[in-house]
Parts: sequence; C-alpha cells; structure tokens
Amino acid sequence: MHDVVIVGAGPVGLFLACELGLAGCSVVVLEREPEPGSPWRSDPLGMRGLFAASLQAFHRRGMLHPLLTASGVHDAPGADLDADGPPPLRGGVGHFAGMVLDPANVDLAALPFRLPSPAPDFTMTSLAAIETVLSERATGLGVEIRRGVTVSALAQDDEGVVVGAGEHEYPARWVVGCDGGRSTVRRLAGFEFVGTEPRFTGYTMVATLADPEKLRPGIHLTPTGMYLRMRAEGHIGVMDFDGGAFDRSQPPTRDHLQTVLRRVSGTDVTLSEVHFASSFTDRAMQTTTYRRRRVLLAGDAARIHSPLGGQGLNTGLGDALNLGWKLAATVHGHAPDGLLDTYTRERHPVGARVLDWSRAQVAAMSPDPHGQALQGLIRDLIGTRDGTTYVFEKVSGSSIRHDLGSDQPLVGRNAPDFRLADGTCLAELMHDGRGVVLDFSAEGRLRDAAADWHNRLCYAAGAAKNDLGLGAVLVRPDGIVAWAGDRAFDRKAFERAAGQWFGNAQT
Ligand SMILES: Cc1cc2nc3c(=O)[nH]c(=O)nc-3n(C[C@H](O)[C@H](O)[C@H](O)COP(=O)(O)OP(=O)(O)OC[C@H]3O[C@@H](n4cnc5c(N)ncnc54)[C@H](O)[C@@H]3O)c2cc1C
Repeated sequence: MHDVVIVGAGPVGLFLACELGLAGCSVVVLEREPEPGSPWRSDPLGMRGLFAASLQAFHRRGMLHPLLTASGVHDAPGADLDADGPPPLRGGVGHFAGMVLDPANVDLAALPFRLPSPAPDFTMTSLAAIETVLSERATGLGVEIRRGVTVSALAQDDEGVVVGAGEHEYPARWVVGCDGGRSTVRRLAGFEFVGTEPRFTGYTMVATLADPEKLRPGIHLTPTGMYLRMRAEGHIGVMDFDGGAFDRSQPPTRDHLQTVLRRVSGTDVTLSEVHFASSFTDRAMQTTTYRRRRVLLAGDAARIHSPLGGQGLNTGLGDALNLGWKLAATVHGHAPDGLLDTYTRERHPVGARVLDWSRAQVAAMSPDPHGQALQGLIRDLIGTRDGTTYVFEKVSGSSIRHDLGSDQPLVGRNAPDFRLADGTCLAELMHDGRGVVLDFSAEGRLRDAAADWHNRLCYAAGAAKNDLGLGAVLVRPDGIVAWAGDRAFDRKAFERAAGQWFGNAQT
C-alpha cells in the first residue's frame, strides 16, 4: 500500500508528488496519457504564464534554473540582489479583461514585502517544460509515475482508499485528485461542485492564415469579445460571447472557427488550414470542500474558471505547495490536530477569489451596454497608479494572505526572499522541504528553542540585508510566514507558533 496515490501527472499532481517525495512519503502518480509532451502541452498551445509566487516555489526547491532552461528563458534579466529600495519588475505584469497593465504604473513602494530575488516576477513557460522538470525531480525522489493508467473507480473507508483503473487496483492511505477540470476523482468521491454557467466560448488554435496582415498581433477587446494573436506563428485565441452555446463534445471545425474569428475580430480574415484547435468556457465552479475523508483535490480538479489573466496553474501550484507538507506530516503521524483541515480553510477562499476575478473580467468584456459601461470605468481605474497596482497585486498573487489569526501584516503571506549578510537566502534554506526559522538577532535568541524542532525546522541566524524591521520569522515549508516577531520578540510566542504548525517538539 502506498502512502499517497496522486491521480494526474499534470503540473499540480507532479508538484505535489515532489513535495511528498521530498518528505519521504511513498507515492505513485497515475496518469491517463501514455506519453508526456503532447502538442496540447507544448509550445505554443501549452504556453502558460507563471507569476512570482510560483517561480519562488521552484526557486525554494532548487528547480528555478532547470525550469527557466526548459522554458527557453536563457536571457532573463538578472536581479541586483544587493540593490537598496524596491527591486524593479522583471517580466510582464499581466492584464485585466484584455486591458494590459503598464509596468511603469505599478507603485513598487506600495509593495513593502517584495525583496530582491533571483526568481523573476513573471515568465512564460509551457506545461511540457514544467512537467519535464517536475517528472525528473519526482522520479529522483523515488516517486513512481505510471502512464497509460485511466482511473475509473474509487472506494474509501476509515483505513484507506482503493483506486481502480481497468483490472488494476491501487490501495493507499490517501488519494489526491489532480486530474484536471473534468476530474473523475471529484465525481467518484462525491464532491459537491457549484458555481456559475458560462457566458462565452473560447477557442485556442494553431492555424495558417491566408492573409495574416488582416489580424493585428497582441490582445484586442472588440464589441463582440476578444481575440489574441500571439507571438508564435499562427497561434490565435478567440472569445465569443455566445452564452457558452458551442457543443464542446466535438472539436471545432475550420469553418466554425473562421466564422467566429471574423465576427469577433471584425475582419474577413481567412483560415486556410487549422492544425490544432480546442475550446474552453468561462464556466466557474468550485467544490464546496477540498477534502472528503481520505480523498483530497488540488488544482483544476477543485475549481474551474476561464483562463483569463492566467490564474489556474498558478493557483494549482499554490494548492500543491499548501497540501504537500500537511499531508506528509499527517502520513508520518506528527501533524498537529486539524493541520490537514487547514488546507481547505486556506486554499478554498483563494480559489473562490480566483473564480470571482474571472467573473469580474467576463462582466467587463461583455458586449452588452452594461458590460461596455463597466469596461470604460475599469479602463479609467486601471489607468491610475493605484488601479494598476491593485490589479498587479491580484494577478501576481502577492495580495494573498491567509488568516492565521495574527495582526502582524506579514503573517499568512508568502515570505519575501530574506537574505542574510553572508549571502544565504531564505529560498536556499528551503531546498529540503523543512520549515525555516530566520533569527535576525545578533545573539541568536531562538537557537535553543528552534533546536527542539530540528527535524522539521532549519535554523539560520544573522543580520539580514533587509529584515523589514523584524527580529525573527518562522516560515512554513510552503513559504507562508507562520509567525513574525519584532525586534523585542517574545520567545514563547515563537514556541506557540512552532507547536501550532509543526506539532509537539518531542514527537
Ligand atoms: C488556453 C489556456 C491558457 C491558460 N493559461 C494559463 C496561464 O497563463 N497561467 C495559468 O496559471 N493558468 C493558465 N491556464 C490554466 C492551466 O492550464 C490549468 O489551470 C492547469 O493546467 C491545471 O493543472 P492541473 O495539473 O490541475 O490539471 P491538468 O493540467 O488538466 O492535468 C490533469 C492531468 O490529469 C490527467 N487525468 C485526467 N483524468 C484522469 C484519469 N481519470 N486518470 C488518470 N489521469 C487523468 C490528465 O491527462 C492530465 O495529465 C490556461 C488554460 C487554458 C485552457
């Protein structure tokens, strides 16, 4: 029996597999596709944007460089790690409902927790690149990845779960469904999936254009929807406000795509050949919980929404990070009471917010007079410095803050990449998946207390390049700040927080 069966070797399932493998759990990943790297997951159809929190997650596990290399990003602008003041933005800053943000308009001084880091603010990659890096890492950590296995049955009791695929059965103590938007695990385990119906059908395609000069490159909002002509030759996206009427059980035909593209773009462009095409909608649904007894969900299996603004993958990686160490601690029997339930408590609101972000964009793109009026208003707001900064904080995920019951403004947020005077940075201390205590006091005030949790916490002391006015921080394995003390901090408060997240120091 495995500790954990993960269904789905997409980016979320593989990231979770790495986290569990790193923590010493026995894990098997079951994947329907017999081979990796299908055209749907490779450049250009599989192109995806990753924001800072996701890139930092790769950085914290020593996978940033392999990811950037696999993504073909050889010339990412370097970070000046010793710079004073807010570091400049590196990478794009995204859009809201097709209204592209101006990076110069982001008020960096309003983002006090952004410290210099080798991880850029944004980079384009592909699902195939991410999956290659993560598969290699997972395999190296002893995770078994079985391909060509389609899960179709599931039964659970108090002792464990059995997942079925054809004639084969895979017993485990826990199962995590990372099997995407049409999740079989979600259905078989009886999760309630609720939300709103679509207002548009979107299409992504690689096509040969007879008259490419008729279609302008870039993102374009039009009176009937939106179209995108990407930098890769023939890669086009279209969103058509048809009320989600297109029958998605069939692949879209060339004639249909051409009709939609002409209507939305307001041109008479001709598609002479369509090489690949698929459709999606803005249906926005989420399970009411991310756990049913021994079955958990992460990534698209737990929520679906439109791809507007590139949130799905970033949010899914956040799910995997949040769940990995909590499930590992549960498997190993040293999780404090209720730790696993904090997964739903923390990640469900983040998912719900992403659904609302998608809905708000759809409302602002809608071709009816109400939508057009809203769009004009938002365009004005985004044109302001505060408006751009607000949207940037949302799309980049930097505004995410879990309610961990503390008023300290850093607690519950993704930790900045604190750098000690000797050059050690937080991310480097997190490679082995343990939590970290950073003690900025000259005398190492937390050294003895942290030693009690040495199996679960890495301790480092020293003056920081920028300590944000803090005396010490406790960072969870997922990079979330669990506790932060000012320069006169109380050691007992640290011990309470360590016990709350890492369990009894003696077990
Ligand atoms: C056009 C488009 C553009 C997007 N752009 C962005 C972007 O820029 N940024 C962003 O953050 N997000 C983006 N997204 C969303 C992003 O692609 C998804 O959120 C992400 O891929 C979800 O990852 P996942 O691992 O949860 O699921 P998936 O990537 O769907 O992987 C699920 C895996 O499970 C397997 N599987 C399914 N059923 C079974 C079964 N029964 N048995 C075994 N295996 C099974 C599948 O084969 C697949 O490998 C975009 C989406 C689209 C459609």
